[in-house]
Amino acid sequence: MYKFLHPVGARVGWNRLICNSHASPKSTFIMWLAVQNRLATKDRLIRWQLNIDGTCGLCQLESESLEHLFFSCSYSKEIWRQVLLYLGVTRAVLPWQEEVQIAVKRSRSK
Ligand SMILES: [Zn+2]
Repeated sequence: MYKFLHPVGARVGWNRLICNSHASPKSTFIMWLAVQNRLATKDRLIRWQLNIDGTCGLCQLESESLEHLFFSCSYSKEIWRQVLLYLGVTRAVLPWQEEVQIAVKRSRSK
């Protein structure tokens, strides 16, 4: 009966980023929303007819979307660059989908 009421959904590549992660529940929940492009970023809030300023809260230059907020914004891009440098990773910050693919690949290894 349970299987009838809850059919198995499509397999996703990012499940290891969420399940069995050592990150905090809050972080995994935000990641879960982000990989499904469901974070309440300003571009989505405007699509939901909220009358708000859609400008990025960090740089005040461009409209706020998931891609911009985490990877294209000059402010957050610099933070990511510093984090990568701290971790010894010597590559540039990539767009969201490419960063997720890299994280998925690394989550498969031990
Ligand atoms: Zn910005």
